[in-house]
Amino acid sequence: MDNFEKKEWIKKWALDLGFSSMNVAKANRLDREAERLKEWLNLGYHGSMGYMENHFEKRVDPTQLVPGARSVIIFTFNYFTKKKQLDPEAPKIAMYALGKDYHDIIRKKLNQLKEKIDDKWGETTGRGFVDSAPVLERDWAERAGAGWKGKNTLLIHPKKGSYFFLASLITELELPEDQPIKDYCGTCRKCIDICPTSAILEEGYTMDASKCISYLTIEKRDEIPTEFKGKMDNWMFGCDLCQQVCPWNRFSEEHNEPKLEADEHLLKKNKEEWLSLDQEEFSELFQGSAVKRTKFRGLKRNIEFLSDNNDTS
Ligand code: SF4
Ligand code: SF4
Repeated sequence: MDNFEKKEWIKKWALDLGFSSMNVAKANRLDREAERLKEWLNLGYHGSMGYMENHFEKRVDPTQLVPGARSVIIFTFNYFTKKKQLDPEAPKIAMYALGKDYHDIIRKKLNQLKEKIDDKWGETTGRGFVDSAPVLERDWAERAGAGWKGKNTLLIHPKKGSYFFLASLITELELPEDQPIKDYCGTCRKCIDICPTSAILEEGYTMDASKCISYLTIEKRDEIPTEFKGKMDNWMFGCDLCQQVCPWNRFSEEHNEPKLEADEHLLKKNKEEWLSLDQEEFSELFQGSAVKRTKFRGLKRNIEFLSDNNDTS
């Protein structure tokens, strides 16, 4: 089997496991991206996510994570659903978090794929990642032609939009690389204009994460600064606004992963019920969900912030 056939063989298995696409980049150091990351960190756009400053070389050089790495395989995994929270006044949860935690689902699939590869070619050096280590997945995905990085900084595929997770497998296997694709944002600036906290810089392509609702509701541990009162668009966990307006998402199709199925209890909860959420209910409702990341205290803080701020009224 030559390297092209190897790649096709892996891709077939990846698609069988439920991944939406697979692309490959050479495992070279991300020199250009490293400069951009340094600049972004120096500007403080990562807010209190101090961990982003750690392991800098590991972030930009895949051979630091997997010695002898030759290829970075990038997978996308669709999470789009038309299901919505029923009460239009209920505080909102980003689409990706309506079902079970994607980390567990995707990690399992990456492990299964690695096992298939090892069964076929003997034990290979390689590691799968899904938000689990310092891997710049979006930069790799862009290099590998899995999409282009839009003005909203998300990866966009011209036929599939942006509602997908990214995962990677860094491997010693030498696989033919894919070519980056064109940026189709053109003169559009819908994501910049819709962002209620002006987190996307005016020229696009750069995000001040410290202002993004996703950061404020999930990553930020202390109080949400008062400057964001009235600007949260009623989001209590994450935010989808800059994806909702993106014209490329008109091509999104329903995912078919049962474990990502939106939780019916969660969809049915109305505004009043969210306001009276207690610890016990939180633990029950979000068992095995990515929302657990905020802990009860964090989600309650968000709900109260929205309510104080009349975002929910
Ligand atoms: S996720 Fe929401 S807050 Fe963050 S950049 Fe997009 S629109 Fe702005
Ligand atoms: S909304 Fe427009 S500018 Fe923003 S990412 Fe989508 S296509 Fe690009």
